[in-house]
Amino acid sequence: MAMWNPWRGCHKYSEGCKFCYIHKGDHKRGVDTNNILKTDKFTTPIEKNKKDEYKIKSGQVVYLCFSSDLLLADADAWRTDCWQMIKERFDLHFIFLTKRIERFIDCIPDDWGTGYENVTVGCTIENQNMADFRLSIFSKLPIKHKNVICQPLIEQVSIEKYLDDVELVVVGGESDFNARPLNYDWVLSLRQQCINTDTHFEFRQCGTHFIKDGKTYTINVRQLCSQAKKADINY
Ligand code: SF4
Repeated sequence: MAMWNPWRGCHKYSEGCKFCYIHKGDHKRGVDTNNILKTDKFTTPIEKNKKDEYKIKSGQVVYLCFSSDLLLADADAWRTDCWQMIKERFDLHFIFLTKRIERFIDCIPDDWGTGYENVTVGCTIENQNMADFRLSIFSKLPIKHKNVICQPLIEQVSIEKYLDDVELVVVGGESDFNARPLNYDWVLSLRQQCINTDTHFEFRQCGTHFIKDGKTYTINVRQLCSQAKKADINY
């Protein structure tokens, strides 16, 4: 596994961005997240060592743009170079998440065709409004590997009709002292929608405030993922 953050910074865009961890971390350091900057990691995937070998070994998964959004308009001038590097490293698999899926078709390279085999796109949704808006677009896009990321999930959502060519649905709650609660019934409902459509499902993290059987629990940030794992409901 490798990380590649060609630029940093982002603008809050929808309800799911309310407690964005990038904004929170930057705020603590006095950094303006709305200032979008190219990083010194821009060429990470194609960097080589003294033996002229790629530093990122073949076969790895590369998490792309996890401190921003790959489809951010501010980065339009830089993205073409990223696609070229992704193409050059066809021996790696790149995953990125976006809340801006409506920009996707204007952001792909000329030779995208039905999609690059080595790219997974995760469309993020947080509520039914965003599910209907983003997934109705996402379901029609030429992408070889599609994930739906329901994180932070802030209400019950019905997405079964959008899951035809989706490989994985990920569900998670919000992490913050003031986080909106995650109801376990919503998680189970999404799991059932995945079972109905034979789509892989992963319960990735509880919310700081987690409702189960009508009772609200407050969960420490360090235990959000381990508690979700304990539920043992992945499909
Ligand atoms: S789109 Fe993602 S990175 Fe950007 S502000 Fe929203 S949560 Fe943060």
